[in-house]
Amino acid sequence: MGKCDIAIIGGGLLGTCISYWLSTLYDINVVLIEKESEVAMHTSSRNTGVVHSPFYLNPEKKGKLAKAAFVSHEMWKTFAERRRLPWKMVGTLEVGLDEDQHNVLEKYLEWGPKNGISPKDIELLDGNEVKKREPNVQCYSAIYCKTDTIVDYGAFTRGIKEESQRNRTKFLVNSKVESVKNIANEPVLVFHDGNELQTKLVINCAGGYSLDIAKKFGLVLDYSSLHFRGEYWIAGQQYTGLVKTNIYSVPNYPDFPFLDPHWILRVDGRVEVGPNAVPVPSPETYSGYVGDIETFVSKLADIVTSSTRKLLMNPDFVNLIAKEWLSSVSKSVMIERVQKFIPKIRPEFFSERGTAGIRTPVITPDGKFVPDVMELEGVNSYHVVNYNSPGATGAPAYSAGIVKILQEKGLLNYKTQPKDSIWTF
Ligand SMILES: Cc1cc2nc3c(=O)[nH]c(=O)nc-3n(C[C@H](O)[C@H](O)[C@H](O)COP(=O)(O)OP(=O)(O)OC[C@H]3O[C@@H](n4cnc5c(N)ncnc54)[C@H](O)[C@@H]3O)c2cc1C
Repeated sequence: MGKCDIAIIGGGLLGTCISYWLSTLYDINVVLIEKESEVAMHTSSRNTGVVHSPFYLNPEKKGKLAKAAFVSHEMWKTFAERRRLPWKMVGTLEVGLDEDQHNVLEKYLEWGPKNGISPKDIELLDGNEVKKREPNVQCYSAIYCKTDTIVDYGAFTRGIKEESQRNRTKFLVNSKVESVKNIANEPVLVFHDGNELQTKLVINCAGGYSLDIAKKFGLVLDYSSLHFRGEYWIAGQQYTGLVKTNIYSVPNYPDFPFLDPHWILRVDGRVEVGPNAVPVPSPETYSGYVGDIETFVSKLADIVTSSTRKLLMNPDFVNLIAKEWLSSVSKSVMIERVQKFIPKIRPEFFSERGTAGIRTPVITPDGKFVPDVMELEGVNSYHVVNYNSPGATGAPAYSAGIVKILQEKGLLNYKTQPKDSIWTF
């Protein structure tokens, strides 16, 4: 059986950034466990690729993610410069289509500065001012945020992995944690191939599977989760110049953790429309609606017996899901949603699907979506669950915050031996 000081489950942005911070602070044996052959094979590559300025997040409900996103912006910029990775500040227009949505935008003008954004970086424009900047965009009003930036988060994760490896973090890939047991009061992780790893502390950053892993440690047994696939359509090259900035719209249902599809610029020059939010049975059902039968049946059973059942009694939620599903089976329905603010686009402008990604929001025992990230402490374990958008943006600062919490809880009782670091802890 292998042994280490700290085992991190999950090689997405979160786990990889945590491993990096630990590697810059301590000379200890840290192992990051990833079931795939490389880091960032799931959500950390399969996202919209925006470094968000958190003007649209309610500081009272999503304060942790908002603060981390704000602080991380400069950190990612420094990282991109150092590693010579693309960093394109393209800005975002968040459009409101009527007076009600305009009122939401006015609220954003208050939230932005509360989340740290300088008032000079966000401005409220009326529909005519928007037209002058983007003649093909139609709306009642919009917030323009000039600092929103597009990047390749997969490349960012692989870059952080290399920095962490240089400081001697071990990346154990192709290793899936199947179960956990206890030996001499220490957790022992059991892998799919029967190998085992004994550790003093487990940090669970398993993305869409983090709730399942937390349950293996006996935590949050009465919580459940749903998986929503976000799909994209790629615009033909001749149409990419129609709009030159990212266009988001005010969400119709702010209590649900997904936005309407938007117009997004990719860092490699592509332009896409998406993502929608189609329910699927697992965090990795990237095509089809059922996945493998075993997963489907087990998710169905989970829905019927868990807190998700209560959510399904909410008619707004059921309506939304029906709309999202339609936009998956019909490209025209998806494009129609964006036509509301870019009337010129047509379904035939989009002939290829983009790379889908899956969100896994967590549901409370009384059937409500958990709005912010959840941090759970177990015996010799710490779990980050519901780490959703803008989690990629916030990863550098959020992960530093997790390491600080672990220090304060006395779970990192090692002598610090700080090394040169890209960022200041
Ligand atoms: C459609 C979509 C668009 C998004 N757009 C943006 C955006 O523009 N900007 C932004 O800031 N955020 C965005 N996000 C959110 C962001 O991508 C995520 O918050 C972030 O990538 C989560 O990182 P993670 O490390 O927690 O999870 P992941 O990247 O999913 O990593 C978890 C890892 O754990 C591994 N794992 C799971 N179970 C096990 C196991 N049992 N054993 C071993 N390994 C395991 C998985 O293989 C995976 O590699 C978006 C998300 C989606 C779905």
